Amino acid sequence: MKKIKTVLVANRGEIAIRVFRACNELGIRTVAIYSKEDTLSLHRNRADEAYLVGEGKGPIDAYLDIEDIMRIAREHDVDAIHPGYGFLSENSQLAKRCAEEGFIFIGPRLEHLIMFGDKINARTQAELAGIPMIPGSTGTVSSVEEVRAFAGKHGFPIIIKAVNGGGGRGMRMVASMDELDQAYSLAKSEALKAFGSDEIYLEKYLQNPKHIEVQIIGDTHGNIVHLHERDCSVQRRHQKLVEVAPAFSLPQQLRSRICEAAVKLMKNVDYISAGTVEFLATPDNNFYFIEVNPRIQVEHTVTEEITGIDIVQTQIKIAEGYSIHDPEIAIPEQKDIITHGHAIQCRITTEDPANNFMPDTGKLIAYRSGGGFGVRLDGGNAFTGSVITPYYDSLLVKATTWGLTHQIAISKMLRCLKEFRIRGVKTNILFLENVLQHPQFTDGSYSTKFVDDNTDLFI
Ligand code: ADP
Repeated sequence: MKKIKTVLVANRGEIAIRVFRACNELGIRTVAIYSKEDTLSLHRNRADEAYLVGEGKGPIDAYLDIEDIMRIAREHDVDAIHPGYGFLSENSQLAKRCAEEGFIFIGPRLEHLIMFGDKINARTQAELAGIPMIPGSTGTVSSVEEVRAFAGKHGFPIIIKAVNGGGGRGMRMVASMDELDQAYSLAKSEALKAFGSDEIYLEKYLQNPKHIEVQIIGDTHGNIVHLHERDCSVQRRHQKLVEVAPAFSLPQQLRSRICEAAVKLMKNVDYISAGTVEFLATPDNNFYFIEVNPRIQVEHTVTEEITGIDIVQTQIKIAEGYSIHDPEIAIPEQKDIITHGHAIQCRITTEDPANNFMPDTGKLIAYRSGGGFGVRLDGGNAFTGSVITPYYDSLLVKATTWGLTHQIAISKMLRCLKEFRIRGVKTNILFLENVLQHPQFTDGSYSTKFVDDNTDLFI
């Protein structure tokens, strides 16, 4: 067992603060990094120490400057690095450099980052584990003729995906032969621009699926468990907006099968730390693999609420070498990991739903949050006087509510959202209220098409 004394978080905003909170409770010293543009950001003050990173680089590139992060870690007695989500979290180079410099990388092994960073490779692993697969191309496709042949065989619609894609980007649905040529070249150029590689592959596009994902935890002693599933079907342009746990609208038997499939895959690859296996579930009660995210996710809060397990602290303890069943972590055997009640997370963003969700910037002249029984807030720069810059993603604060039933969790969220007063910058709060009151959200029947099909939610 190696006791971690100091954690550097190679990230910013709410997830950096989330990790600092976990460390504080464990008595671990914390180190923040910040870009010049983040000089006034809250995450900087929530750590014991904070250092400027990537001087002279752009606002994003500063956080991607692995060598400067290594320098800060060396100079300030850091022994472990948490990557959060986004930025370098799935970058195998960070994990590799950590290993070379003798820092503990709080996450999976390097091989897992490589394995799941390549979506075709991830599909191969899922196939090996016997998980149902969406019909797809065998490997990458490198000509428009191959796309035509695939569509000819499987029928429209199909979806073109970037092999290195992520975050809902690098995907293009193709509905007919007329769109195909243009979609192919756009998908390739977009992939190159966003992910530095124009490699693409194909899948059949499923109609009206639900996005169901399973939280996995594995340790270095060979134990792998799931912490049940989340329903993340409220999406706009393939990006999640509201997440729910458990996925109560699916039959219990289907949920169990999905969770078992996720565990099987992760056992097969001897996974460690927190990770998520994502699936699409279709109205005929089938489910199919889509990808694995080898990191903490934005929506981990809903799983924490229904299981009582602190996933970030668990990651840290696993990195120290503890078994998940050790009293230090205290996760019981799989059959005893039960869920209690229902949780919902809303991503409150500084975006204007009435104007195509355009990010808004400026000073928060007033910020008063909701609260009370059953409400949890994970904020980034959410305070009066905070300046929202255009450089980073527009997540302001995550509101998570918990209740004994889905309906109680909704009532708490609606009350919480109504208590918010945010002035100076536009937010998506009214849109979120519309989602929560929609009958399809209430009864759980919504699919991933819900937001795109209901444009009246935007006003
Ligand atoms: P990312 O890594 O960018 O998040 P995913 O593969 O996880 O990409 O897919 C994100 C979302 O895109 C899914 O939740 C779903 O809404 C949609 N999607 C992905 N693949 C398909 C598919 N084959 N058919 C229908 N929708 C899909």
